Amino acid sequence: MPFHTASDKEIKDGKITDVYFERGKNILEGKGIKKNVVAEIRAAVLPDDWSWAVLGGVEEAVRLFEGLPVNCRSLPEGTVFEEEVPVFWIEGEYTSWAVYETAVLGFLCQASGIVTKAARCKIAAEERQIYSFGARRMHPAIAPMIERAAYIGGVDGVATTAAAKLIGEMPIGTMSHSIILVFGNETEAFKAFNEVIEPSVKRVALVDTFNDEKFASISAAEALGKDLYAVRLDTPSSRRGDFYKILQEVRWELDTRGYSHVKIFISGGLDEYEIEELNDYADAYGVGTAISAADVVDFSLDIVEVEGKPFAKRGKMSGSKEVYRCDACFEMTVLPIKEDPGACSCKEGIFEKTSKEVIKQGKVLELPPAKVIREYTMSQFEYLDIDEDLELEIEEFDEE
Ligand SMILES: [Zn+2]
Repeated sequence: MPFHTASDKEIKDGKITDVYFERGKNILEGKGIKKNVVAEIRAAVLPDDWSWAVLGGVEEAVRLFEGLPVNCRSLPEGTVFEEEVPVFWIEGEYTSWAVYETAVLGFLCQASGIVTKAARCKIAAEERQIYSFGARRMHPAIAPMIERAAYIGGVDGVATTAAAKLIGEMPIGTMSHSIILVFGNETEAFKAFNEVIEPSVKRVALVDTFNDEKFASISAAEALGKDLYAVRLDTPSSRRGDFYKILQEVRWELDTRGYSHVKIFISGGLDEYEIEELNDYADAYGVGTAISAADVVDFSLDIVEVEGKPFAKRGKMSGSKEVYRCDACFEMTVLPIKEDPGACSCKEGIFEKTSKEVIKQGKVLELPPAKVIREYTMSQFEYLDIDEDLELEIEEFDEE
């Protein structure tokens, strides 16, 4: 294989494992010890200043356990959760799945980080469109995973063709600096794009290659007229100065010449905080590294039940659990699996059970398409803010 990646088969065969899991399995098998356990996956802390995160990577985690003699439950992919909320459970004889711990955590940790960052950017952008442009900053083998996660988090489109195919959408792109450099002239490149590319693709002119953004925007509008959908400013940080003022000026100059239909598309080193600052003048954003190289959610996996009895290591609450969420106020509560959640203190909603059975004796029960997951993620946005704490309450409970 020319590239430094594991094949699907190696992952499914449990070859991507920390060696101590393999040794543990060998020791238990050597001694003939077979015990049924329940393990849960949860994050004790979230990265950066996040007060909430969004679950991703569930489909791949489910595919990992498909065919093994285990039962799995999961919060639905796209569910908002807080620190200490369990998100995925595995139940079965320990040695039958022990070597998959490394891989299942990898799937959930990285994808959840990306889904969360994408959701934060989408919330910051409000009704404006955002696109995933950061595949190029990560290993190409995982570009489809990255962009699917970005899409589930709320981005409106993805750039790479393989990722677009995975999620069942058309890839989104504008125009590269390379083509303008090869033409040697911005206006000629804009006109050629308009002549050659099929009309269904929106005409977005890249206006930061040779000239000042204001003058390049005006010449793009003059060259393409009504056909011009947007100008894109990908201005390098070394030339930005006061970017807000540059955008304000571009908008002003386009409007005074009758080009108020031309939208302003921004890309280049953006994150949710810059998006919030530029919303007054930007109509759409291309977000790169901030999403594709998002911090990972540090999930860990812990055994919480052995042979049907609550049992966990120091610092972990034992027993199989259920996560409930109030359908009116969004409060989340974690309880021992058989305990009744009672009424929510808001007195307006009822606590709904959030986990779903996803694997029954190795059989996959349900995997919603990416588009449905994305809608579900975004349906929770009304409760979320990127700057303020959610303060979901997680009730303490005694070990049995
Ligand atoms: Zn409530």
